[in-house]
Amino acid sequence: MQKKNYYNVVIVGGGISGTALLYTLAKYTKIKEIALFEKYDDIATLNSNAKGNSQTLHCGDIETNYTLKKAIKTNKTATMLENYGKLYNYNEKYMFKIPKMALGVGDEEVAFIKKRYKEFKSDFPYMQLWDKEKLAILEPALVQGRDKDEDIIAMGTDERYSAVDFGEIAKSFVRNAKKENKHIDVHLSKEVEEIEQLGDKFKLSLNNGEHYFADYVVVNAGAHSLLLAHKMGYGQEYSCLPIGGSFYYSKVDNLKSKVYTIQNPKLPFAAIHGDPDIVHGNTIRFGPTAIALPKLERYHHAHFIDFLESLSPSSEVLEVFQELLSDKDIREYAVKNFLYEVPGIRQKLFAKEVQKIVPSLDEDDITFAEGIGGLRPQVIDKKNKKLLLGEAKINTGDGIVFNMTPSPGATSCLGNALEDAKLICKFLSVEFKENKFKKELL
Ligand SMILES: Cc1cc2nc3c(=O)[nH]c(=O)nc-3n(C[C@H](O)[C@H](O)[C@H](O)COP(=O)(O)OP(=O)(O)OC[C@H]3O[C@@H](n4cnc5c(N)ncnc54)[C@H](O)[C@@H]3O)c2cc1C
Repeated sequence: MQKKNYYNVVIVGGGISGTALLYTLAKYTKIKEIALFEKYDDIATLNSNAKGNSQTLHCGDIETNYTLKKAIKTNKTATMLENYGKLYNYNEKYMFKIPKMALGVGDEEVAFIKKRYKEFKSDFPYMQLWDKEKLAILEPALVQGRDKDEDIIAMGTDERYSAVDFGEIAKSFVRNAKKENKHIDVHLSKEVEEIEQLGDKFKLSLNNGEHYFADYVVVNAGAHSLLLAHKMGYGQEYSCLPIGGSFYYSKVDNLKSKVYTIQNPKLPFAAIHGDPDIVHGNTIRFGPTAIALPKLERYHHAHFIDFLESLSPSSEVLEVFQELLSDKDIREYAVKNFLYEVPGIRQKLFAKEVQKIVPSLDEDDITFAEGIGGLRPQVIDKKNKKLLLGEAKINTGDGIVFNMTPSPGATSCLGNALEDAKLICKFLSVEFKENKFKKELL
């Protein structure tokens, strides 16, 4: 049989974004020939793997950097993933109802949480306000050993799915997509090195010398998305700043909930949290830290040239760095987080962060989690000279899209897939079964 080398749609990248799109196209369109290319020998081995991220389904209710409007939007995409999990009975298999809360420590943060609770109550009616007394019963580790004059409060719930093994969900997307459409090809251990537009088709050249052709291409290659865009001359207005995140394990398992702390709006997803790790025997994980790294993958051989190419240093990028570092909070945060990676001193320093959540833990109770934590491809908008705080998409309008997906990219995978599936259907003049999508996932 002759090998197939032409597809209607090719997806580059087998993390949760690429696989969510594969599933969405298979289930809600009649597009027949679809392929996914992944450079490693398995699905979701990098940031979407349970080891790479914080395993949190971000609903906006405990992420204090979100405004109410943003939280409502995030909740919608989180609900899609929750509904997908329910559709296939993945409850308590790949997604778990671990209690979760946003914790305020000290008078200022306590006042902040009380105000936020009032503001969020009608749109997030399941959220509850837990004062110090209540927390002493629900989550004693938050109170034990704390200065008795230090007030704490939390808004939280135990009613929502809050923890997800995004890696297993990504694998399930592939399995379920293949059940819907027998023509799907998933090519593992195949790296797309170059994409060229030839008339109304795209030619994809792989690292093994093979070539494939497609009518439409979506690049969901994490930190490599911008690199592939730059190679084609797209996205020159963007740079990629890879931010690595590490975690620490607690040797004492005394937390039942996901406990988020108050975020600094200038540094989204920078405040650390404590989470029961759902794949590591329910050990408590604290983190993530955040450190700029000169590589596109956290724990693989680094191609420094690829990093340079996707950063594409310029006077605008320098200006963004200068502006960021002129802010005292950001400067201190960058230095602290660098030190959290330095063996010998990191444990002692990071213990202070942990104590904000669990006061009784000290440096001997935590250990640096080797090999755990991924990398966030933060995007710099060179034209407007600013660091983008969320996801970014380059839609060329010509049949190719590139997605950059830092946090909370795993939570919003189906929301992003919906957007891309609609673009693809419009471009290829194919129907998108929106009512079915809405009925099943919204
Ligand atoms: C420390 C940390 C904590 C986080 N916590 C959360 C959280 O709690 N909740 C949440 O929602 N999000 C979280 N995120 C973000 C989340 O992990 C990412 O947004 C998400 O995993 C991105 O998925 P992706 O599929 O776009 O990218 P990835 O998971 O990075 O997948 C990209 C895939 O593309 C492949 N690839 C790359 N280049 C090529 C190529 N040329 N050819 C073929 N394949 C290629 C890679 O091998 C990889 O498999 C966290 C991230 C970090 C770093």
